[in-house]
Amino acid sequence: KSLKIAIDGPAGSGKSTIAKILAEKLSLLYIDTGAMYRAITFKALQSGRFSTKDIIDIAENSQIIFDKGRIYLDGMDVTEEIRKPEIDEKVSITASIPEVRERLVMLQRKMAAEQGVVMDGRDIGTVVLPDADYKFFLTANIEERAIRRYNELLKKGVFKSFQEVKEEIIRRDKNDAERECSPFKKAEDAVEIDTTDKDINTVVKELMEYIKK
Ligand code: C5P
Repeated sequence: KSLKIAIDGPAGSGKSTIAKILAEKLSLLYIDTGAMYRAITFKALQSGRFSTKDIIDIAENSQIIFDKGRIYLDGMDVTEEIRKPEIDEKVSITASIPEVRERLVMLQRKMAAEQGVVMDGRDIGTVVLPDADYKFFLTANIEERAIRRYNELLKKGVFKSFQEVKEEIIRRDKNDAERECSPFKKAEDAVEIDTTDKDINTVVKELMEYIKK
């Protein structure tokens, strides 16, 4: 039976970095579910169709494929586009629509049924893969998460003040935690790991120790 590993956590908790390395080490497919919500948001914004009905229609009629660390939306590589600040600002609207979640969760389960996966997001341990072999919940304090996000943006040439970046993260976490449909929370049986002040290798090692057991 192929391994299913669920990693959830708030923005800037380090989950995508860790999930990617873990998938590589264990030869599993890495699936970034946040990228799927981002891709739908990108297509809706780009087409100028951003009503709830439009977003549902887009979610139900788009093809999303992960291949070698890239994400393709209807055959187009959107890996870079979906990380832009406009998407950060709007993605929680997309993520709060029940029909969109239903559709993406279905696709996520289908991907996980076909092969072993490390999947990261907000509802993987609670909703998408409640029977995952391992569940992790990564956290870090808000200052640390904001610093990581700030540096990430800076690297991409996006200049926002630290305060602005921090407020943006707080706002997004709040939206994710308070939405009615599958609000973001830790699965009861997930192992919580605080990544504040820990480097990537230390966190990966910690997770590997649970998996080896
Ligand atoms: O992980 P990332 O920060 O890229 O996720 C972007 C947004 O997508 C989150 O803020 C959340 O609104 C939504 N999301 C979600 N459920 C997931 C993954 C992401 O609602 N499983």
